[in-house]
Parts: sequence; structure tokens; C-alpha cells
Amino acid sequence: MTTTIHLPPHRLSAASQRLRDDVRSFLDGELEAGTFVPRCDAWMSVADPAFSRRLGARGWIGMTLPSAYGGHDRSALERFVVTEELLAAGAPVAAHWIADRQMAPSILRHGSQAQRERYLPAIARGECSFAIGMSEPDAGSDLASVRTRARQVEGGWEITGTKVWTTGAHFAHAIVVLARTDGSPADRHSGLSQFIVDLPAPGVEIRPIRTIDGEHHFNEVIFDAAVVAEDSLLGERGAGWRQVTAELAHERSGPERYMSTVPLLRAWAEQLRGQDGGAAAERELGRLTARAWTLRQMSLSVAAALAEGRPPEIAAALVKDLGSRFEGDVVETVRRLAGIEPRKNGPGLEGLLAEAILHSPAFTLRGGSNEILRSVVARGLGVR
Ligand SMILES: Cc1cc2nc3c(=O)[nH]c(=O)nc-3n(C[C@H](O)[C@H](O)[C@H](O)COP(=O)(O)OP(=O)(O)OC[C@H]3O[C@@H](n4cnc5c(N)ncnc54)[C@H](O)[C@@H]3O)c2cc1C
Repeated sequence: MTTTIHLPPHRLSAASQRLRDDVRSFLDGELEAGTFVPRCDAWMSVADPAFSRRLGARGWIGMTLPSAYGGHDRSALERFVVTEELLAAGAPVAAHWIADRQMAPSILRHGSQAQRERYLPAIARGECSFAIGMSEPDAGSDLASVRTRARQVEGGWEITGTKVWTTGAHFAHAIVVLARTDGSPADRHSGLSQFIVDLPAPGVEIRPIRTIDGEHHFNEVIFDAAVVAEDSLLGERGAGWRQVTAELAHERSGPERYMSTVPLLRAWAEQLRGQDGGAAAERELGRLTARAWTLRQMSLSVAAALAEGRPPEIAAALVKDLGSRFEGDVVETVRRLAGIEPRKNGPGLEGLLAEAILHSPAFTLRGGSNEILRSVVARGLGVR
């Protein structure tokens, strides 16, 4: 039997528009004060803890969390509006992004009362950064084959293994680790568990992995018989796979999966506004803008599904596949038609283009590669 992917159109409320205006004027103020310059891919690579704290103080982090845990009882669609504006501005949000996007919902759903009280208010204040310890040297796409082990010992758990490509582990206050607690890799999806490990910690070494431009965004994290407390277990022992799958829906569904290069697109549009860039440039700008609009409608529909508790995994995989290809196409189009030389740390469009070129190989890999996402979509549609 085949099925279909349903992405019904969704309209934002008038209250959401007011919220959008508030966020825009806050960002205009920050830009005027010179606290940041727009950057491509800033949600992953530009962390400014003070900026995150200012957002937290305005109630724009942990928005959907209950007020009992320091949150703001707002809807996923209101959060979508804030997220969209921050991404369009290229604001420095990496310090809180992972914590807000996926750890807050995961801890709210699976965490113990003590974990909720410990982490959620700090996340909502913009004071708690998280790293995700899923991938390993031999377990990326095939995540269920993780080899990191957690063994119950007196007073806690002993974790041994190596995680890789761990974004932001060098500044994170905690890392969530996927480890095998029971069975063997042959058991695949059963016997995996998640742990929250506060950082830095004895027995945990964080080594930088530098990207092609020499920057430090991700790491190798080595657990050498690191002992963590009993209550570091997140959720149920052995239910790690189910928990991680739910977490990935949050990780894959947001507008950051098509908006990483929107600051570049905006800067190019601005340049074209002031000069005759030629018919080809205007046509391509129109095409890209139309695609961005379509992706936005799809992403909004996925956010609405999440808000209503409908499972968005398949639609989220589809939007991420289309969205991350769009991000790369923006870079290629601007490179081809803008008539400028990319220059790292250069002013305006030159700097944005250089940064986007250097980051673009990652767009279709991180959070699950496009080939894997297409398999998810195909399986979801009943294609064998
Ligand atoms: C910028 C960036 C940030 C990241 N941050 C994190 C992080 O914070 N935490 C974390 O845990 N991980 C992180 N990752 C890792 C990311 O999740 C993995 O890179 C990704 O899942 C792919 O795994 P891999 O690199 O091991 O590639 P592999 O799994 O080895 O895949 C290599 C290639 O083979 C293809 N392939 C593999 N299996 C199949 C298949 N069955 N069918 C078809 N094609 C296949 C893939 O599509 C890919 O093109 C990050 C990666 C990047 C690039």
C-alpha cells in the first residue's frame, strides 16, 4: 500500500505578526548597536552567549516550555516566527540553538523531574548550551551501530567510546550521549540508552576538528571510562533509539534546514536593487525567492504538525532534503551571477559568499545525509 505526504497550508495569526515585528525591531536595534554582523550558517557556527542571554530575557528561548520550568507557554508556530527572523538576520544564535531546538523538548518529554528542574530553566534563560553525541567514527548514517558503551557501576554509569563531529562540545555545558547499555550491536535498535553528561567532566576529552577554513565548530569527544551519576540516564534504559528518533524530528524540521544561506540571498537582492545586475540575475533571484517561499510553506506545515502532536518525520525529511539543496543552490547562483570575488572575512556580500561556499558541503550531510532522508521518505511512502 502506498501513502502520501500531507502538507496542508498554514496561516500565521495576527498575534504572530506582532511578535515578528517585536523580533525585527530587537534585531534592528542589535544591528545598529553593532553587536553582530549578519553571517551565513550562524545558527551552527556563531555562538555569542551574551546575545543568547538577551534573547532569553525577552522570552524567545524555551518559548514552548511550560512556565513551571521557566518557559513561556507559547505555541510552536510562535517559536517558528522567532526562529525565522533570527535566521533571516544571520544572528549569532549557536550558543543556545541545539538546547532550545531539541534538548528542551526531549528533556521535557523523557527527563526525570530533577533533570527538568536542572536544565529547562537554564535553557530558557539562554544560559545552557548542549552538544549532541550521536555520530561515531563508524556510525553516522547507520546510527544504530554505535559502539559507545555505558556500563552500570556502583553509584552510576561508566561510559567508554568516541563521538565525532560533535558541534559545539567545546563550549557546551552538557552533552547528550547515545550509548549501548544492553545487548550487542547485532540487536540494533534495542539496548541503546541516552545519558546527559555535564561538561567538562573527568574522563571526557574534547578534541577540536578544524574545518577547511581553519575554524573550530565541531569536535571529537572521547569517553575514557568516564563515570557519571546514576541519574544521568535520560528517559528509559534501552529506549534510546525511540527517543533519538523523536529528537531527530525536531532536529530536521526547522527553518534552519533551508535558511542557512538566506543572509547571502538577502545581501545579493540588496545589491541588485541598487544596480542593473542583468536579466539573468533578476530571473534567478526570482526563482530562488519563489523556492524559498514554497519551502517556507512546507516548513510551516511541518511545524504545525509538530504543534498538533502529529508525527512529522517523513515530511520533515522531505523538507530537509529539498531545503538543504536550496541552500547550496543559493550559493552557486550568487557565485555565478553576482560578479564578485568571495573573500573570507571580507565586507558584505564578498564575506557572506566566501563563508557560504566553505560551509556548503555540510548542508546536505548534517542531521542525516540527503540519501538517508530520501530513504526515509521512500519507506514512508511505501516504496520498496
Ligand atoms: C556540519 C556538521 C555538523 C554535525 N554535527 C553533529 C553533531 O553535533 N552531533 C552528531 O552526533 N553528529 C553530527 N554530525 C554528523 C552527521 O550527523 C553525519 O555526518 C551524518 O549523519 C553522515 O554520517 P557520516 O559522516 O558517518 O557519513 P556516512 O554514514 O559514512 O555516509 C557517507 C556517504 O554515504 C552515503 N550513505 C551511507 N549509507 C547509505 C545508504 N544506506 N544508502 C545510500 N547512501 C548511503 C551517505 O549519504 C553519505 O553521502 C555533523 C555533521 C556535519 C557535516
